[in-house]
Amino acid sequence: MRYCFLNIITFLISVTVFCKSVYSNADTHTRKNYEPARALLQFPPGIIHSEPMVDFFPGYAVSPFYYQAELNRIEMITDNFRNYSSRNSIGKFRDTVTNQGVDYFKTNLKDSLNAVIKQKTDSLLASKTAHSLYKPLYRNDGQNKPVKYIIILIGDGTGLAQWYAGYTANHASLNVFAMRHIGLSKTSSLDNYITDSAPGATSISSGVKTNNRAVGVDHKGARLTLLPDIIAKRKMKTAIITSGDFRDATPASFYGHRSLRSDFKGMMEDLVTAKVDIIMGACNMAQYDSVSVILKKKFNVLGSLNTVNKSTKLPLIVADSVAAFSIQKGRNDWATTAFQKTLQLLSKDKNGFLIMLEGAQIDHGGHANQLTYVVSELLDFDQVIGKAMEFADSNGETLVIVTGDHETGGLTLTGGDYGTGMINGQFSTGGHTAIPVPVFAYGPQSQLFGGVYENTDIFFRILKALKSDYKPLR
Ligand SMILES: [Zn+2]
Repeated sequence: MRYCFLNIITFLISVTVFCKSVYSNADTHTRKNYEPARALLQFPPGIIHSEPMVDFFPGYAVSPFYYQAELNRIEMITDNFRNYSSRNSIGKFRDTVTNQGVDYFKTNLKDSLNAVIKQKTDSLLASKTAHSLYKPLYRNDGQNKPVKYIIILIGDGTGLAQWYAGYTANHASLNVFAMRHIGLSKTSSLDNYITDSAPGATSISSGVKTNNRAVGVDHKGARLTLLPDIIAKRKMKTAIITSGDFRDATPASFYGHRSLRSDFKGMMEDLVTAKVDIIMGACNMAQYDSVSVILKKKFNVLGSLNTVNKSTKLPLIVADSVAAFSIQKGRNDWATTAFQKTLQLLSKDKNGFLIMLEGAQIDHGGHANQLTYVVSELLDFDQVIGKAMEFADSNGETLVIVTGDHETGGLTLTGGDYGTGMINGQFSTGGHTAIPVPVFAYGPQSQLFGGVYENTDIFFRILKALKSDYKPLR
């Protein structure tokens, strides 16, 4: 790690570089040890120094003037601040200086440097390898053909900045960006400019805008008819999968009816009568002994996704604690595996199905203002998207819809590199924002999803894609 100080020479900000190897040993503070460094004072030509300096070395740190081995012996170098940063579009120094291993700054432009550093900035350097993309065949994509299978993939807290952060980190590639039919969903809830996940997901599952915190009920608490109820009349099955807790608002909006999203016990009770054939996610079932007894009469309840195979009995609850882990903490390919096992269990059924899979923790990364958390979760989610597109191409009767319930963190991208996958981002809030979120659609009837519309319209467009005659209240 180098220690850098900043000085101002006329209008330039300069950086002074300390070499740790020198500072780690007091004996090196002798003239003798500086001889190689003094020799370097001859370069570059034209820079004149009145005397050799032990503590201060006004040379230039950036090659081609010096080899790294030489630089390692130099205690301090004055350098141009521009070599450690770059300018943004309005000519101000950007915050990339914080990526340079700099621990200390010294400058007489203290206030301006403080302003740069105080911006909340997070950055990540993505892995060298990108996840491989599915190459779409666009089978019946955008065509007015029958839809038998519906896959709704909801990235909790996922707006365009989250998608683009993932795209950059994945070295300019993302499955979802191959989708050709795109819209924007306005996410405000009935009682608030900024939604939470409960009315956000309820809008999609019921077509009704409700109040913040309300799951599957309207603003007066009346129970709403949900997509799984509607398609069950056509004998279509429903699966709900989340890389989080399945009692949480987004998955619960597809089976629960509670005015408060925190009513976890109520959600479990609602599951007893819900039109759900498969539910997978984390959940400590032992907390609900009395409800669990009832649930176990209806459902095949398993504690791990690993035990699910193609002959597992339905209806099925998989309450697997692994689902609650973040990717960074070892969830690995749990979501992709859950999705594929669900496809295997449901695609035998001739009447079709609805799968709602939530990328739950993209939102958690946004709340934590951690770009690495956001991106690792988003890339996991994108791999499920690739599998969904592959399934859609295998039959030409699958509509895949990918969206978010809202954006989280007010993320903006202030720098990046497609080659290295490096990203700089700033979050403007620890909460949600009102910015509309993209809706991507793939497969037959995906052409219905263009435009800018309310999140409730996703529900109505799904009904239209299914040519459903169900008439919900609006
Ligand atoms: Zn959230």
